[in-house]
Amino acid sequence: MPKDRQVSHVKFCFLIFGNHVIMGFSWRRMFQSQSQGNLTRVILHCDLNNFFASVAMIRNPELRGKYIAVCGNPSLRKGIVLAKSENAKRMGVKTGMAIWEAKRVCPEIEIVPTEYDAYEKYSKQVQAIYYRFTNQVESFGIDECWLDVTHSQKLFGDGLQIADKIRCAVKDELGLTISVGVSFNKTYAKLGSDLAAPDAVMAITLENYRQLIYPLPLGNLLFIGKKTQALLTKLNIQTIGDLANYDVNLLKNFLGINAEKLVAAARGEDYSDVSDYLFHEVPRSVGNGTTVPFDLTSKKEVEAVLYLLAEKIAFRLRRHNLQGYTIHLSIKDAMLHWCGAQTSLPYPTHAVLTIRRTASTIFDQLWVQKPFRPVRALRIAVANLTDAPNLQTNLLADLNDEVKNQALDDAFDKIRRKYGTEQIMLGGTAQSYQKLGFKLNMYDCDDVDHLTCDEV
Ligand SMILES: [Mg+2]
Repeated sequence: MPKDRQVSHVKFCFLIFGNHVIMGFSWRRMFQSQSQGNLTRVILHCDLNNFFASVAMIRNPELRGKYIAVCGNPSLRKGIVLAKSENAKRMGVKTGMAIWEAKRVCPEIEIVPTEYDAYEKYSKQVQAIYYRFTNQVESFGIDECWLDVTHSQKLFGDGLQIADKIRCAVKDELGLTISVGVSFNKTYAKLGSDLAAPDAVMAITLENYRQLIYPLPLGNLLFIGKKTQALLTKLNIQTIGDLANYDVNLLKNFLGINAEKLVAAARGEDYSDVSDYLFHEVPRSVGNGTTVPFDLTSKKEVEAVLYLLAEKIAFRLRRHNLQGYTIHLSIKDAMLHWCGAQTSLPYPTHAVLTIRRTASTIFDQLWVQKPFRPVRALRIAVANLTDAPNLQTNLLADLNDEVKNQALDDAFDKIRRKYGTEQIMLGGTAQSYQKLGFKLNMYDCDDVDHLTCDEV
């Protein structure tokens, strides 16, 4: 199961959190931290069990006991399994399966639509419970969090007792269950929650980690990508224990500097902190993408989608006081092939028109062949981010343009906050959205900490 879980997690990020923000934490924070010392830390990793399916059952009690698959909307061509109930999982239903495949392995399956607002709401309520026990709560996706409870033990008991108190509170108050891993670092705490049964706690201690962690397949370790895993398999490194016991210097020949980090992770030498709730990372990029309900067959239709994506991204950038220099566009054609390109601007932007115009130019460069090839999906990302400076009207002509574009966005924001998102739109876009079946509802799409959905 852990392997399956790891895979589904990756898919989860890709499929559901396509509206992505790639956080700049990974290795840097995983292995460079101030908390190295003699104190044995107590870290929990809390993972909500079958989160989407569980929320569906709370909101629709008649679904209890049935086989459930939460799926994207088939009429919008997003009809794949995003989450499933425990019993459906046992029948062989997997995340990422097409609906027809799920029905084949589990004929009684009930297909349930996604309810992102509800997931957000429950996720925040669960986190509110975590905060009762510590202020160091770091979310990892919508259904997982690390908690550092080292200094909470005097108040609430040892790590296992705290884990159990949290597990009971989440269950009693919200009707959701969690698996909790308790360990002395984040990497092992996460592996502990993978090993724990639903609604249970698993401790990975200094005494038992070799026995429990080392036999696990390599793919269970966070941040092991497919390429790295393939390379390590060639070296006959199959388990976490194989990696932990490997000669680092030898491995450096194959993996370079990453060798040390990977071996350290396998050995549980992960000294990274659980971030405080006041701590916010600067993300590396902010992006939105969507699969359209029918293939786009003209540049005009493409423009409408680009505008919609640019609106979403610009809004999120502005909300977090960020701007980016680099605009990236990815396009999927009707044959499901992706291609993409990026361009950098001489100044950072969070203006809708600038992002849309730049993406449109990239599109023209990528889609030069005639006749027009149908487009199935589009994604824009703004990268190379910086805190938003106050742009002064000066010097460069295109900077003046940028100032105007940003002023327009500010005006839109003000009107929308007062009267609603759809009360003001750029000429012609409302009709295009209607035709494409889109709703511009960006004010529900909150912050960059949540790697929210792929749908616009
Ligand atoms: Mg989960």
